[in-house]
Amino acid sequence: MRVVVIGAGVGGLALARGLTDLGHEVEVHERASAPRTDGAGLGLYPNGVAALAGVGVDVSGIGRRLDGLENRDPSGRVRYTLDVDAVRERYGFEARVVPRRDLLALLSDGLPDRTVRYGRVCTRVRVNPDGSVSALFGDGTSATGDVVVGADGVRSAARRDLWDGDPARPTGWASWQAMTEVPMEAATGTVGAVVQGRQGRCGILPAGDGLVQWWFDVRWRPEIPRPESPMDVLRKLFGDWSDPWVRAVLDHEAEEAPAFFEHVRHRVPREWGVGGATLLGDAAHTFPHSTAQGADQALEDAWALTRVLAEDAVERDPARALRRYEQSRRGPVTLATGAEAIMRFGPPRLLGRERTSALATRQYIGYLGGVSNVLTDRRP
Ligand SMILES: Cc1cc2nc3c(=O)[nH]c(=O)nc-3n(C[C@H](O)[C@H](O)[C@H](O)COP(=O)(O)OP(=O)(O)OC[C@H]3O[C@@H](n4cnc5c(N)ncnc54)[C@H](O)[C@@H]3O)c2cc1C
Repeated sequence: MRVVVIGAGVGGLALARGLTDLGHEVEVHERASAPRTDGAGLGLYPNGVAALAGVGVDVSGIGRRLDGLENRDPSGRVRYTLDVDAVRERYGFEARVVPRRDLLALLSDGLPDRTVRYGRVCTRVRVNPDGSVSALFGDGTSATGDVVVGADGVRSAARRDLWDGDPARPTGWASWQAMTEVPMEAATGTVGAVVQGRQGRCGILPAGDGLVQWWFDVRWRPEIPRPESPMDVLRKLFGDWSDPWVRAVLDHEAEEAPAFFEHVRHRVPREWGVGGATLLGDAAHTFPHSTAQGADQALEDAWALTRVLAEDAVERDPARALRRYEQSRRGPVTLATGAEAIMRFGPPRLLGRERTSALATRQYIGYLGGVSNVLTDRRP
């Protein structure tokens, strides 16, 4: 079977790995002119790591393992600790913080030459009268397959066609994030922190090789102009936070300016595609940033889609297989989308720190089972 994938992001490349191993003929068309070498890190939680293993990709050689995640207040007081290692024990897969560029390189290095084609801007997706599907590109060329998968991110061109509009809308929040060498002991540990206060949220995770993945979530409106020096703005906004890790991030001379990401959401309908066309990853669904599940859910999609396209009967009726894939992902995706309150506010704080930590960990184990097909072996 011939499969055309739009977008060489985390989800598109993982799908290409899974499908190539099955013997399908796969081509990936990416808008960027070359492989991405910038960008910060990604927290891959056990479901993302398991989904990658399911498409034959082992991430144990990149980034850094995450064993715990502290939830703190701006003064540095630990409210509770999520025992990520206990989550690993429950599901058998660890969590890792990985540089995005390393993950993309690991995924694309395992593909046959010429699978990924750069500088290809998809503008439209069309289902043809004979059942085949074509992706049309800005340069007037096209690619036709039995299946076309739009894995082209939050502002997906494929979604525009398949869902007849419905653009992503700003949530009122944005992140400044970077992965830099921050002089702090935690950089070489396996515990991260999320610090929450009225100004916003700061996340700090060790990413391996002395690097620290850090981000600040702040309130944002599209009409606000981007500051010339985001670090100065962050230093002012979070100036009265005394958490030592936050101070180390704000006070260090970052070798690169943090990148800006506006958080957006869009509606997710029952069916994600038409005929032999479907969507995957952020193109199909976005999540509250606080859940840190975007990449994990894109990888879950890649795993589930690989499973349905592994079946013999798929050649005769790919559209049916794609609808089964979408149906299998709907429940977990809906839960992940709606679970913001649990993830943002955590368990009640009336219990002591230890009991709150135990409850938060149990809650997270349950949450992860609910949002995952791969960890619970819910096959399409
Ligand atoms: C600040 C920030 C921090 C995050 N941290 C985490 C985290 O810790 N854990 C986590 O799980 N998730 C995290 N996420 C979310 C995660 O990055 C995304 O959910 C994930 O990258 C989605 O993967 P994807 O493959 O669907 O899309 P993307 O990774 O966005 O890839 C889409 C690809 O499609 C290409 N493309 C776009 N349009 C076209 C077109 N028209 N034609 C051809 N190609 C096109 C793009 O160039 C890109 O390469 C974070 C996101 C942000 C903004």
